[in-house]
Amino acid sequence: MPDDKPWTARQEKLIAAMPKVDLHVHLDGSVRPETIVELAAERGLTLPAGNAEGLLPYMRAPEDCRSLQTYLGTFAFVLAFLQDGEALERVAYELAGQAAGENCLYMEVRFAPQLHTGQGLSLEAVIGHVIRGLKRGESDFGITARAIVICMRNHGAEDNLAVLEAAAHWQGRGVVAVDLAGDEACYPAGLFAPLFRQAGKLGLPVTIHAGEAAGPDNIREAIVNLGARRIGHGVRIREEREVLELVRAARIPLEMCPISNLQTRAVADWASYPLRQYAEEGLLVTVNTDNRTVSGTTLALEYRKLIEHCGVSVEAIAGFVRNGLHAAFIEEPVKQKLLRQFEAACLALKLGAD
Ligand SMILES: [Zn+2]
Repeated sequence: MPDDKPWTARQEKLIAAMPKVDLHVHLDGSVRPETIVELAAERGLTLPAGNAEGLLPYMRAPEDCRSLQTYLGTFAFVLAFLQDGEALERVAYELAGQAAGENCLYMEVRFAPQLHTGQGLSLEAVIGHVIRGLKRGESDFGITARAIVICMRNHGAEDNLAVLEAAAHWQGRGVVAVDLAGDEACYPAGLFAPLFRQAGKLGLPVTIHAGEAAGPDNIREAIVNLGARRIGHGVRIREEREVLELVRAARIPLEMCPISNLQTRAVADWASYPLRQYAEEGLLVTVNTDNRTVSGTTLALEYRKLIEHCGVSVEAIAGFVRNGLHAAFIEEPVKQKLLRQFEAACLALKLGAD
C-alpha cells in the first residue's frame, strides 16, 4: 500500500466539479441535526440539547467507534422524529439537496419503512412520503433520485414480506430495488432465502448488505440464494478466493462505503482497506456515503480519503462513478441519459481513462 499522499488543489477542484453517484445512502443516517431541532420544536418533543451542535454527538458515530453495534446505536435517536409524513418528506427532500449540492447526479436513497410506522403510518404511506420528498428534490435541485426499500434482519418473516409487497406497490414509481440490512453477524443471509424468493417473484431487484460484519459466506449466499444483483459493502470478499471469483464472474457491483467501513471496523485501518485491490482485480467497485450524518461524510470526502490513503487517482475515482451509473437500478433510458451527461462532464474536465 502506498504512503499517504497530500491532497492537491487540482484534485480538489476536479473532485468538486466531477458529477457523482451515491448508490448506498441511508435516509435515517443522513438527517441534518438542524432539521431535528426544528422537527422536535414543531412536534413539542424534548431534545437532549437545544441546538444542532449539541445534538451532533447523538447523531454521529464517535471518533473511536469500535463496532457496527455502536455505529447502529446512533439511528435509534433520529428515528423518533421520523414518524409522520411531513418529517419523512422533508428529510428525503433535504438529502436530495445535500447530494445535489456536491454535484451528485444520481442517488438511490434507502430506508426501512417498518421503522417509521410508530404513529400509525402504513408501509405504503411511508414509502409514498419519501418518494414525494425525493421527487420534489429532483425538480428543485436537478438531481435524479430513486428509493430502495429495506427489510430488516431482526424483523419477522411476515413483517418483511409486507415490506416487499409495499415496495412492489411503488415499483416503477420511485422504488427501484429492495435490500436487507441490520445485524449481519447474528442473522446470516441464508435465513432470508425464502423471503427473497418472493422478491424475485414480485420482480424486485435485490441488493444485500453482506461481507461487512460477517464473512464471505454471506456474500455467496446473497448472490446464489437471495438473488442479489449488487452487494452492500462486500469488504470481506478477499477472505475467500472462490467468492471473489464468483463476484467477478457474475459482474456484481460492490457498494463500498470507505469511511463507514473504517468506523464499523470492517477493516482495521486505511492501509488494509481493500478497495484498490478489488478494482485492480477487476471487481466493479462503487464508492458511496452510507450515512452522511452518522459518518460525518460526503462523496467528496470519501473520494479524498481514497486519494490520500489508498493511492487512488482522480481518474480512477471517475471510473468508480461510471461503475455506479452502470450499476444503478434506474430505468434504462434514464441511465443512458445520465451516462451521456457524465461522459460529457469528464470530457470537459479532461478526465480520461486511468
Ligand atoms: Zn448500509
